[in-house]
Amino acid sequence: MNVHIPTAQEQLKFLKNIQLILQSGSFSSTYKFALLISLSRLAIEKGEDSGESLSLEYTDIAEKFIELYWKQAVPYIFNDEGQLILNQNNGKQAAIVNRIIEHRKNYSSLGMLRRDSLVWLTLLNEVKSIVKKMPVTFLQNINGQNFEFLYQLDRCRKQLILLPQVMFCLRQFSEIIEELCQKRWIDYIKKNSSNAPILNQLPNLEQFMFEPSRNQLNAVANVLVDLQDCKCFYCNKPMCNGNYAVDHFIPWSMYPSDTGHNFVLADSSCNSKKSNLLASDEFLHKWQERNEEHDLIIVDRISILGFLTDKERSHKVAEWAYKQANENNYVKWNVING
Ligand SMILES: [Zn+2]
Repeated sequence: MNVHIPTAQEQLKFLKNIQLILQSGSFSSTYKFALLISLSRLAIEKGEDSGESLSLEYTDIAEKFIELYWKQAVPYIFNDEGQLILNQNNGKQAAIVNRIIEHRKNYSSLGMLRRDSLVWLTLLNEVKSIVKKMPVTFLQNINGQNFEFLYQLDRCRKQLILLPQVMFCLRQFSEIIEELCQKRWIDYIKKNSSNAPILNQLPNLEQFMFEPSRNQLNAVANVLVDLQDCKCFYCNKPMCNGNYAVDHFIPWSMYPSDTGHNFVLADSSCNSKKSNLLASDEFLHKWQERNEEHDLIIVDRISILGFLTDKERSHKVAEWAYKQANENNYVKWNVING
């Protein structure tokens, strides 16, 4: 087997293939977008920059599915009064979404559901078996032909094993893949006739489907005010006037998934100047130290708000992001020249 780091040509071919399955794949539900996003995020959280294959647990994939659909399994409100739960399937609502809708009646946040471990594990197992049966089987299907460039189906019984070079390419192109998938996912929702009532009134559809809610972030801000003694994470100035915002330390544009350890509180000025840039290296160290020191508080107080809080994973994501930035010469922001 080929375990070298893929050549530039091989990397481009991979990207072309991703585009091909998004363009020509037969998509009867949004599961395939969710699967591709999940694989790409897990390659960052669990993988490394080598040409090796990577074995992924179906449980981890199922967890990513639940996170993605949890947000979308409440009514989308439009025109002030109309509301509709987005249909994620060509026929009846997708089974995973139905399961999650049921749980949302009993649990106010994903964090609360996770704490009820018996219910959580049952849901994980249900989602796991659907993921295995549906999107994993059909993702690489183009016009009835199996096109196995991500994984080989017959070798993916217990775990999903990414082929050599795939982990490397997913990590390399994760930002592009996320964006492609999100755009195609939104398009699918718009074109699905059972979502017709919301057609033409979608200014916030993207925000509704993928971005964290304001309420949730306000609750995170309350935790961080305590943690940072109400001082800006970047310039250290006091923010007693309440003029602050929750900042994604690793910018949302690079890694669009909320994890508890990624949040810092910044004054409005630093927050808007940093925008979607990475902070300079000194802040990476400050952030890592903050997470080491306050890990327990973050896990305890932010996970209950519904965010996944796993320090190791957050730090792996940061390691990936700074490596990408260094290799591709992304501009980094710091307080002085910002
Ligand atoms: Zn500041």
